[in-house]
Amino acid sequence: MHEDRSCSNCGMDLEESDGELCKHCVREERDELRAATDPEVTAARNIHGGTDIEIDHDAKCAEGSEGLWVAAWVWVSNTDVGVRGND
Ligand SMILES: [Zn+2]
Repeated sequence: MHEDRSCSNCGMDLEESDGELCKHCVREERDELRAATDPEVTAARNIHGGTDIEIDHDAKCAEGSEGLWVAAWVWVSNTDVGVRGND
């Protein structure tokens, strides 16, 4: 029997192999996230930074095999939100 399940933390759809949490949340629970270092934040800002993307000086990051993921803030304006719920 197939049953649609979602992550109990973020609500993302779970894969067959997942438990109660998605892979992202499991990783976070294991505390594999750490604060990014200054060079890491600088690199992230140089590559991705702009008016619509901001990265905290102590942004959380998760290490991968050839780099790392750095958490960022992405801007959504009231107008953008209105597009979704406008009636
Ligand atoms: Zn999740």
